[in-house]
Amino acid sequence: MTYQPISDSSGATADILVVAVDVTKQVNSRKQVEQSEQHFRSLADLVPAKISNALPSGEVTFFNKHWLEFAGMGFEDLRDFGYHKMMHPDEISTFQAGLADAAESGVSYVSEMRFKDTQGKYIWHLNIASPILDDNKQITMWVGSTTDIQTLKVEEQRKSDFVTMLSHELKTPVTSIKGHVQLLLRVLEKETASALTSRLKPSLNRIDQLLVQLTGLIADMLDMTRIEAGRLDLRKESLLLDVLVTEVIEDFMLTHQQHHFNLNVERDIEVNVDRHKISQVLINLISNAIKYAPDSKVIDISLTTADKVANIRIRDYGIGIDEKDQKNIFERFYRVEGQNESHYSGLGIGLYLAKSIIGFHEGRISLESSKGKGSTFTISLPR
Ligand code: ADP
Repeated sequence: MTYQPISDSSGATADILVVAVDVTKQVNSRKQVEQSEQHFRSLADLVPAKISNALPSGEVTFFNKHWLEFAGMGFEDLRDFGYHKMMHPDEISTFQAGLADAAESGVSYVSEMRFKDTQGKYIWHLNIASPILDDNKQITMWVGSTTDIQTLKVEEQRKSDFVTMLSHELKTPVTSIKGHVQLLLRVLEKETASALTSRLKPSLNRIDQLLVQLTGLIADMLDMTRIEAGRLDLRKESLLLDVLVTEVIEDFMLTHQQHHFNLNVERDIEVNVDRHKISQVLINLISNAIKYAPDSKVIDISLTTADKVANIRIRDYGIGIDEKDQKNIFERFYRVEGQNESHYSGLGIGLYLAKSIIGFHEGRISLESSKGKGSTFTISLPR
């Protein structure tokens, strides 16, 4: 309502004009906005996560109850001083880079990061920063969700420590068994051939092969825990990659005489790599090429150079990998579903290790495959 005085010719107020405008709609819609805001706040306080809201500029406009309780601060203090001070210093720059990427791509930034609690202890959280876009793909606001995953992290660490311990414990007896088997094989070599020696020899050779497999598995488990902890030490040396590849293939030729390995290598390719780790990657890929191709006995291996890289290609004619699985195949513990578990046994860590080890060498690993037609894995190493 507005009231406006109407003056007569002498200037005195003669009348009052009363203007009434119907603002029911505006009032109702303001009330609705307030209500929905209230609704959002109550919801945000109900969920166990820490929720925040920010302007496109990054200025925080809301922290839910769990954020304020965790920080032990009021809204203004947390907004102005607290939030960044609570982050673990090691994670701030990665977080900021992730936010910048999210702002550009419009895709949420998900990360695991630590925030300091009121006792000064860093607690692991799963942090999701989501840019909310309008129809023109412009950011209208940010919504943050931060979930305490400390218990999961502790449990993960305990499991990882257990796997490390188990692998170390297994290593000692297995190494010792291997030593004894090789000793027995040497003793047999010296014996004159008899019914007994010809019965024992194939079995001991088989035990020796299986022990190689077992040692490989233990080495894989140990490497996995080292990679997880960011402690994989490479012992790089300058060597000829063609010689290394040939050695690995020759070992396979001895143990897999039914298979045909087509070897095509360029010579004198000098690289600076960790001999054991690269052999381990090749062994994993070739073992897969054998394992996942039960009806084919042919494997093509080539080593070529281009520019500043050496490319090793391992091709099989086996079951192949469906397109939908290809992007996940290098993830830890990922195994293609629906494959007969007893037919294709495994832990799902071989390709994860291969990718990590090649990554530590600043190289790349890629896959081309189609279901039913076989797979080609390519390792590119700098030279
Ligand atoms: P594992 O073989 O122990 O399961 P990997 O990490 O080596 O673990 O491989 C992960 C998954 O990728 C396998 O379970 C299998 O489904 C698929 N895979 C790997 N190599 C091949 C291959 N050469 N042909 C078909 N599938 C493969």
